[in-house]
Amino acid sequence: MEKTSRIYVAGHRGLVGGAILRRLQAEGYTGLITRTSRELDLRDQAAVRAFFAQERPEFVFLAAAKVGGILANSTYPAQFLYDNLMIAANVIHASHEHGVRKLLNLGSSCIYPRLAPQPLREEYLLTGPLEETNRAYAVAKIAAIELCDHYRAQYGSDFISAMPTNLYGPGDNFDLQGSHVLPALLRKMIEAKEAHAPQVEVWGSGTPLREFLYVDDLADASLFLMERVSEAGPINVGTGQDLSIRDLAQVIADAVGYTGALVFDASKPDGTPRKLMDVSRLRALGWEASTSLHDGVARTLAWYLAHRAEALAAH
Ligand code: GDP
Repeated sequence: MEKTSRIYVAGHRGLVGGAILRRLQAEGYTGLITRTSRELDLRDQAAVRAFFAQERPEFVFLAAAKVGGILANSTYPAQFLYDNLMIAANVIHASHEHGVRKLLNLGSSCIYPRLAPQPLREEYLLTGPLEETNRAYAVAKIAAIELCDHYRAQYGSDFISAMPTNLYGPGDNFDLQGSHVLPALLRKMIEAKEAHAPQVEVWGSGTPLREFLYVDDLADASLFLMERVSEAGPINVGTGQDLSIRDLAQVIADAVGYTGALVFDASKPDGTPRKLMDVSRLRALGWEASTSLHDGVARTLAWYLAHRAEALAAH
């Protein structure tokens, strides 16, 4: 990418797209193209086509998606499947039709089979049944990888796919029904501290293991992949380290300074028992995550405290 290249960041208001946009701006890229979902509904094929014909992006970061935590995913599976299939099909096909030079498709670690060996290697894709609580979302994300790979095979398109592990950071969704675990616990602990509440509720058993990547690290990996990598198949992006939800809750309590009790609500789902990424492929290509969980949580906490009204109004 040259500094003046026409670069479309799809989903720039989201956690991932926002981080990629900030990074591109910081690096002095001037040809950045964005649209809010109100301005351009990516599920609308004709609108997407017209947008590509008009703007003629040369590079595309496909970070637009309908996303949510375990409850939202299992409550609205039809929307998660339809919205994400349409967004992927429309953006990837329009990129092909309009001669996009390179596209980076962003997915998720939930594409891998629920009981795949750990850590998750890229070749485990489509080797077993998916986790039920996010199957709809995962199927759409798998379809997007397949689209990129088949357009590469049939048309020679330079479309690549990155699969980040669980992400967090500035701009995350802090809505307690829709969000992922890290922002949810951060908000719950802050509010419990302020209210002098004796306990905070943590969903599930606390035993599932999860890996967390700070979103600015994903933005860094995304630029790295866009610049240097051209391969079929998913490429895992993670830290290679995980911890239990119980330990995560403690890390967050320490960061917030909350000293009350943690109470586990077994009526809420645990989801997949573990999803740790094998990141050796990306490491061999020359990239590693650099932000520790401790630092990332501290930065996210500081951001949330400074932007609380904005964060809560956004979702
Ligand atoms: P997942 O990685 O797709 O399962 O998505 P989540 O980030 O939503 O959930 C990860 C784990 O954290 C699951 O075992 C949840 O039950 C657990 N968890 C604990 N407390 C919370 C909470 O307040 N919100 C969410 N979303 N998950 C929670």
